[in-house]
Amino acid sequence: MFDALSERLSGIFESIRGKGRLTEADIDATAREIRLALLEADVALPVVRTFIAQVKERCKGAEVSKALNPAQQIIKVVNEELVGILGGETRRLNYAKNAPTVIMLAGLQGAGKTTLAGKLAKWLKGDGHSPLLVAADLQRPNAVGQLQIIGERAGVTVYAPEPGSGIGDPVKVATDSIAEAKQTGRDVVIIDTAGRLGIDEEMMQQARDIREATSPDEVVFVIDAMVGQDAVNTAEAFRDGVGITGVVLSKLDGDARGGAALSVRHVTGQPILFASTGEKLEDFDVFHPDRMASRILGMGDMLTLIEQAEAAFEDEQKEEMTQKLLDGEDFTLEDFLDQMQAIRKMGPIGNILKMMPGMGQMKDQIESIDDKQIDRTTAIIRSMTPDERRNSKLINGSRRLRIANGSGVTVSEVNQLLTRFKDAQKMMRQMTGSMGLPGGGGGKA
Ligand code: GDP
Repeated sequence: MFDALSERLSGIFESIRGKGRLTEADIDATAREIRLALLEADVALPVVRTFIAQVKERCKGAEVSKALNPAQQIIKVVNEELVGILGGETRRLNYAKNAPTVIMLAGLQGAGKTTLAGKLAKWLKGDGHSPLLVAADLQRPNAVGQLQIIGERAGVTVYAPEPGSGIGDPVKVATDSIAEAKQTGRDVVIIDTAGRLGIDEEMMQQARDIREATSPDEVVFVIDAMVGQDAVNTAEAFRDGVGITGVVLSKLDGDARGGAALSVRHVTGQPILFASTGEKLEDFDVFHPDRMASRILGMGDMLTLIEQAEAAFEDEQKEEMTQKLLDGEDFTLEDFLDQMQAIRKMGPIGNILKMMPGMGQMKDQIESIDDKQIDRTTAIIRSMTPDERRNSKLINGSRRLRIANGSGVTVSEVNQLLTRFKDAQKMMRQMTGSMGLPGGGGGKA
């Protein structure tokens, strides 16, 4: 799965790797290539459209990072957008507050439902649960027998109507199974329902009836990833006809192009919960959008490198700021603004504080800075002229009024800001002195 797409994408990134900077035309050309690669992988058109529009906008937009070269930047954006269309965060199973949790499986015949039932049961068992498998597929000859074989392999009990008992009502089997689970202390009930070869109103009605009778915590649609876009249409029909809360991709080990896997989240609006990757019961795991995206990009190493480059760049910025703090004499309103924004971005102030003796007294002041205050401060300082920012002594009464009007605050707020700034400036000077650092030069100590 995804091999062809991975190869195409690698080729596209390879062709821009050497470029020092990317023009808009480069970005358009690259986006066009990616679009073709996705369409060839059989990704649904609306998904491709949204994806490409996002990639273009972000690559051309203001979020361009100084830490990365152009190729890295595009890879980063494409990776993040891939994670996005695959669902973003990993979505874990919803468990009921009061056991048992009921998981209903739905999907077409041959999608891999029964196999999935066994895999899920085994996985839950490994996770400390005590599942019960329920054979509510009474349509397909031998479906009950198949589930019993799988249950045995998974080491999980199967609840099924007694042969010859005459119980032919899947809704009754499903509801009875929940009572049985309560009685025998099983905490998860997995209901395998009947599929058909195609969408069929009778099947939908039966699935709806089971749903209504059992109020499942999850209705999981099993989708055969080999089927391509058709599977996605089926998923949509099940979403509308039965209501689903999640998707499982089966047969991801196949050599299909991957379009269904990439489209289903966006088209159905429901998360992918698990991925099934083979006929063995162990070939199954929780679906992680980020891992799948980096597998599709086939560049785990490059993504690590990108992360490291960004982290290193951030470190450099922090270092620069610390140096500015140390060079207290040159401390201007511009720096004050930078500092506050960095504080807002940086999180724990403890890191810089540790590096600065005497900073303890300022701690409360720094901690009291909230985001809104920072935004107001930003607005005020931005309403000042460059000269005023460099030399706060210029800011007399009439200038204060102008600045207050420009930034939509009162004059007294401008006064408060200037007082806070002067305190900070004084402290910078004191600190530079007490640390025996050269004050005025601004050079590195
Ligand atoms: P159901 O009709 O939806 O219950 O589908 P089954 O569970 O009977 O699966 C149909 C066929 O697909 C069986 O031959 C399974 O062995 C096979 N199958 C199911 N899941 C996978 C998978 O993840 N990978 C592969 N290669 N085959 C699978």
